Amino acid sequence: MMEKKSGKGLSFVRRIYLPRIIGLGIGMLSVMAGISSLPVPSWVWGLLLFNGLAWPHLAYQIALRANVPYHAEYRNLQLDSLMGGFWTATLQFNPLPSVTILAMMAMNNFAAGGQRLFFKGLLIQGLGMLLSIALFGPGLQLHASTLQVYACLPMLTLYPMAVGWVCYRLAMKLSEHKRRLSALSRTDSLTGLLNHGSWKDLLQLKFQICQQQRREAVIAIIDIDHFKTINDTYGHVVGDCVLHQLSNELKRTLREDDLAGRYGGDEFCVILPDTRLEHASQAMERLRERVGSYRNPQLPELRISLSIGLASCNEALPGPEAWLNEADKALYCAKKAGRNQVNFAHSDLTALKLAYPD
Ligand code: GH3
Ligand code: MG
Repeated sequence: MMEKKSGKGLSFVRRIYLPRIIGLGIGMLSVMAGISSLPVPSWVWGLLLFNGLAWPHLAYQIALRANVPYHAEYRNLQLDSLMGGFWTATLQFNPLPSVTILAMMAMNNFAAGGQRLFFKGLLIQGLGMLLSIALFGPGLQLHASTLQVYACLPMLTLYPMAVGWVCYRLAMKLSEHKRRLSALSRTDSLTGLLNHGSWKDLLQLKFQICQQQRREAVIAIIDIDHFKTINDTYGHVVGDCVLHQLSNELKRTLREDDLAGRYGGDEFCVILPDTRLEHASQAMERLRERVGSYRNPQLPELRISLSIGLASCNEALPGPEAWLNEADKALYCAKKAGRNQVNFAHSDLTALKLAYPD
């Protein structure tokens, strides 16, 4: 029942509960001190006790039980304004408690509902004042006793602290949500690896670093062989499991600095910074063998093989796209040469042949 209401202001209601208990509880003290010297009927004292002690809990329960808690809480806040106005006029506008109540209420209404609630609150406070004047007649009490001054101090100190604390907690929660959302927007949901966009951003960055600082780096494009057949034979759920399994193997094989992503479909991509081609090739061979020897007891026939294209960064490359293209071409050659193998970019092959003529 509660869960269905999430998104309809339940957390708004919860956030206001404690500040209202504190605000109305200690606000009651300043009103008490203000009306203690005035000839008010005894039901007013009853109403004050109810407003200060019972109302915060009643308001909370009403809002929790409402179909749309946010709307109920908004009404509660307006009722708070009505009572605030009522008490300031009942106090005969005694300056200190009146200003304390109205200022705290302004802060509250701004924090809870922005400008709109602030102005609406002002209007409703005016109504509350009129109600009190209609009941008890107009009055003006400009003198504040020492007791009345002291009775306002808790409200002036504790309430802003409570509101500040709530705002701080909210800001922390927001920044945590922002952090999580940003991580989510960079992640591929199926595999937990980097997604296409964020991997390409990193490719650009690493390319620049390699060119400027003459550092070595290799990229690998990994594609599952005949993945469509795996999907067609065993279903997409098994296909997804294979993708997930491959991402796990990638995480296991790679170093912490390597950047693995899912390029799309059954294609994965890795940047191996500060890595020589031989070492990258060894790592990718290891991955290919591990994935090749993977057996699923429930699907004994299932075999997974990988084709991998490698390209190292070199000065002749005009940009990251060209680097990626080299790896793509190497992958294409691996596919053409019979799949289940690691292949190098043309420029790397030439360099390797020069280094190892046999
Ligand atoms: P090749 O050896 O030439 O790579 O053949 P292939 O069948 O792997 O190549 P192709 O690109 O034709 O097939 C990729 C398939 O991957 C097609 C698509 O239906 C499937 N695919 C793409 N994304 C997903 C996914 O998220 N989950 C699953 N299960 N399949 C996907
Ligand atoms: Mg494929």
